[in-house]
Amino acid sequence: MAQPKYEGYCECIPTKLVREKFGDVNVYAQNAKSLLTKATGFIGNYDFTLNPYRGCQYGCSYCYAAAFTPNAQMRQDWGKWVIFKENSAEILAKELKKWYKKILILLLVYT
Ligand code: SF4
Repeated sequence: MAQPKYEGYCECIPTKLVREKFGDVNVYAQNAKSLLTKATGFIGNYDFTLNPYRGCQYGCSYCYAAAFTPNAQMRQDWGKWVIFKENSAEILAKELKKWYKKILILLLVYT
């Protein structure tokens, strides 16, 4: 039977196992609070980055992304899990609506 959450993952956000051993990867689903992140640094010419999932199926030994996972278990298992944001479509619609409103206000103020 599927485990209800990724062991070692944040206890406060329920994570459900969707598919065990999809290739070498376990696939999990989780609801997220956001999808868009304001772009900064060397990608600052873009407005946002879009992050509909976390994790990776490859687990390259030189990968720096594993260092940004929330705990040691997830770093150790890098390449063996993917967690997609199950509510991506509704979150994206809300975030785009919010940004359209901000843009509209700026256009009204500056034109
Ligand atoms: S393990 Fe890292 S470098 Fe390799 S494909 Fe995945 S994200 Fe890219």
